[in-house]
Amino acid sequence: MNDSTATTAAAPLLEVRDLVKHFVVKRSFVGRPLTTLRAVDGVSFTVNRGETLGIVGESGCGKTTVGRTVIRLYEPNSGSIVYDGTDLAPLTFEQMRPFRRRLQMIFQDPYASLNPRMTVTDIITEGVRDELRPADRKDLAKRMLETVGLNDDHANRYPHEFSGGQRQRIGIARALAMEPDMIICDEPISALDVSIQAQVVNMLEELQQKLGLTLVFIAHDLSMVKHISSRIAVMYLGRIVETGSSYELFARPYHPYTKALLSAMPIPDPDVARANRRIILKGDVPSPTRVPSGCRFRTRCPYAMKVCSEQEPEFREVAPGRFSACHLEDGAPV
Ligand code: SF4
Repeated sequence: MNDSTATTAAAPLLEVRDLVKHFVVKRSFVGRPLTTLRAVDGVSFTVNRGETLGIVGESGCGKTTVGRTVIRLYEPNSGSIVYDGTDLAPLTFEQMRPFRRRLQMIFQDPYASLNPRMTVTDIITEGVRDELRPADRKDLAKRMLETVGLNDDHANRYPHEFSGGQRQRIGIARALAMEPDMIICDEPISALDVSIQAQVVNMLEELQQKLGLTLVFIAHDLSMVKHISSRIAVMYLGRIVETGSSYELFARPYHPYTKALLSAMPIPDPDVARANRRIILKGDVPSPTRVPSGCRFRTRCPYAMKVCSEQEPEFREVAPGRFSACHLEDGAPV
């Protein structure tokens, strides 16, 4: 497999190679694995400094597990996670400490990710509690609140006093207080009202430019990552099936799954919407405990051929900087 989502010659900040994370969900009475959930099944991608990589796919495709495994909330089964020249995969909990600071994560659910018994100041400064005096912690919390567009009066309040959008801003302030190089944003807007989603995305974009951050933005919907991502990786059932720059992927998708996701996006112009041919996928995503043979998308693909059930397609370069995993020579017909 020759995956590369990189477009520049500089060494990427993050380089993930052949990452595998399986969960044993059922064992025999002597402990032998009976059922294994292949959440992440050989994923490779790179993230360059200062860019945003969008990772997109339906629920259960493994995108959240990728994020959690990269920051070592989950132990990888195999593969490497090279972050700024160091492979994080074999590090112990203690050895991970400096990297945990540089590599932060924002979680999907702003309601569940903040401790309800802690004040906003304590939440934001929790990671540097042992390093700063109380007065400096208060100062830091105020600065971070200001950075994410909240008032410093909010510093002594508790999470339940805030709206969903405000809580997500507190989560972002908590990540920023660690002075990270990279933030993995795991569906940071999907639990928020549509009216608030654009505000949070715009704020992340502004912060990225102002602070030179590198972002990985995980979402289940291409429209959510379109504007914020410089490059996009599309995931299906534990694998990346297509990558490319955001512009090129939207202008010329190659993989049938990417085409189906794009065809399902809402189009504001009614004339364009009428001309758009919606690709309806058959059935549901198969269970990651029973991954189909050959191409794992074949049970839903409108273009599936005999070879698709026999051979797993190679993830190959189909155009300069564009990679796709499909047996069709030139991508799927439109
Ligand atoms: Fe469809 Fe076959 Fe391509 Fe898989 S390899 S996406 S089943 S055409």
